[in-house]
Amino acid sequence: MNFYWIYAAIGALLLLMLVFNNSGPKNRIVYAKFRELAKSDQVLRVSENGVKADVFLRPEVKDTLNKSKDPFLGNLNTRADYFFYIPESESIKDEMYALAEEHDFRIDFEPVNEWGQQLFTWLIILGIMIVVWVVLMRRMGGGGAGGGQIFNIGKSKAQLFEKGKGTNVTFKDVAGLEGAKEEIEEIVEFLKNPKKYTELGAKIPKGALLVGPPGTGKTLLAKAVAGEAQVPFFSLSGSDFVEMFVGVGASRVRDLFKQAKEKAPSIVFIDEIDAIGRARGKNVNIGSNDERENTLNQLLTEMDGFGTNSGVIILAATNRADVLDKALMRAGRFDRQIYVDMPDLNERKAIFDVHLKPIKVDKTIDVDFLARQTPGFSGADIANICNEAALIAARKKKNMVTKEDFLDAVDRVIGGLEKKNKIISPREKETIAYHEAGHATVSWLLEHASPLVKVTIVPRGQSLGAAWYLPEERQITTTEQIFDEMCAALGGRAAEEIIFEKISTGALSDLEKVTKQAYAMVSVYGLNKRIGNRSYYDSRGESSFTKPYSEETARIIDEEVSAIIEKAYNRAKEILLDNKDKLTELAKKLLEKEVIFKEDLESIFGARAWGAESPAPAVDAIPPAPNVHIDKIDEAAPEEGLKDSTTEE
Ligand code: ADP
Repeated sequence: MNFYWIYAAIGALLLLMLVFNNSGPKNRIVYAKFRELAKSDQVLRVSENGVKADVFLRPEVKDTLNKSKDPFLGNLNTRADYFFYIPESESIKDEMYALAEEHDFRIDFEPVNEWGQQLFTWLIILGIMIVVWVVLMRRMGGGGAGGGQIFNIGKSKAQLFEKGKGTNVTFKDVAGLEGAKEEIEEIVEFLKNPKKYTELGAKIPKGALLVGPPGTGKTLLAKAVAGEAQVPFFSLSGSDFVEMFVGVGASRVRDLFKQAKEKAPSIVFIDEIDAIGRARGKNVNIGSNDERENTLNQLLTEMDGFGTNSGVIILAATNRADVLDKALMRAGRFDRQIYVDMPDLNERKAIFDVHLKPIKVDKTIDVDFLARQTPGFSGADIANICNEAALIAARKKKNMVTKEDFLDAVDRVIGGLEKKNKIISPREKETIAYHEAGHATVSWLLEHASPLVKVTIVPRGQSLGAAWYLPEERQITTTEQIFDEMCAALGGRAAEEIIFEKISTGALSDLEKVTKQAYAMVSVYGLNKRIGNRSYYDSRGESSFTKPYSEETARIIDEEVSAIIEKAYNRAKEILLDNKDKLTELAKKLLEKEVIFKEDLESIFGARAWGAESPAPAVDAIPPAPNVHIDKIDEAAPEEGLKDSTTEE
């Protein structure tokens, strides 16, 4: 419905009013004047109702007068030219009729219902008012299903995908995630074919919670469910519940479930459920009605309260399962928690396969190689790389996307935009080259450090240079591995000290990373002898204000951290001093070529003694350490280093 139609309607009504509004002539005259007009043969017609008489002049007179001509309607004019009130006297009436006869004009007696005419006018005005009112209401109500405004505020904002008209995503588009897919497919199967399960006495599951780091395909999986399940699918985000008005959230939850139940069997998908599902009772604002809490309570009741709903399955996604309320996670609400992890090598290959399909790639592309080049990348990163590669190829006016474009895209995604014209003095450039060469040398010569892929001193994004490692896909990390990685990270600063006998601010991100790692070793992983087998890690974030250890322990932790870092630094220095000539050679090569690869290192140092070591068996889920080491000099943008290197169960 276009608002212009409403405006047009109002305009038409006004016009109609003008046309039919012949309720009164323009000028009032007195009877004597009328007599004058009649006598001079100017009157064409008179229409009287006993009290009032309308006088119409002859056209000739009108033309000369020309002033009573209606600007719009011209000769169509039905309006009288003059009117007068008939004096209450019989003789005057008689005189009027006599004049009419004498001067050849007509007198019509029209008992015009003035009242009726007024009613007509009023009706039109009323009509216009109603139209305006409707327009205003529509405006306020906002368009669309459930519209977010005044009158629909308590309605749920869920988007509904009807049966068979879902998204065009299928399970085939979701690569890897075998376990998660199986669980979800089973839920779809349950809705399609409930008998198979109910015959054995199984109850339909209430919900499944997809948990995992961002970009791992949780939303994608839900979209696939919408595409494949032959049932209505409601999709909304956790933040859609909350509004600036109190009580809206709960009302929306009620409305959502009402709609879902009407269409049962159906699926409701709540993305980013942590927006409402956070544990209750924290950060209580004294005296205020916590809207989020009310919303959550309503959700809990709807999911598993007295009015148990049947045939509505709830899928939810979050990357912060640790902050969710326990009541939400108990069996009977989200019966299943499906952990969607970062893709491993094979899964990355599968994801590349999915995203390479629409891209015109040339024969040099080796999916295996790409998958190995992208450890620690999520599905979203990979999708991004494929798209970037195509964009880069298009920019270079190629008709195929080549391996080179993909490598550029990986650099671009990790490091940011190349900054060829960043102003760097030769002296600075030399420092950067030695710094990066230091990382490369130390990591090359240490057994447990991740093998190097390439070193670059091309400034990119916020970084001035970078050393890229290829970490093994391991699940647990040993003390030696962490220590060697710390040595490699400190190799940059150690090289600066050895060569220039000065240190610079260029090691900020190294130091940050190393410090966090050292603290994690001591206070999180229990890898320190003096502290012993203790972990002060607080996975639920319950005691954010108090430390779970004494001042004395805090002092020991600090001492141990310093000791570890100094030990690592000295080790790095020792290695570099022993290999000073090779370090110099590497730095020179780096200055000359700007980017050097593993092969260049091999030509200087010889093959690495400990290349392919079999990864440790997976026992505990500790994600591998961040894979790219980037030096940020100009800006300190703290990453969540601790989170990366510590455990997120
Ligand atoms: P999140 O887990 O944060 O909800 P999404 O599901 O929105 O992540 O994933 C973002 C994008 O990443 C998807 O649109 C898709 O292109 C890509 N992606 C992520 N995981 C996969 C996967 N397993 N297979 C294929 N594409 C994936």
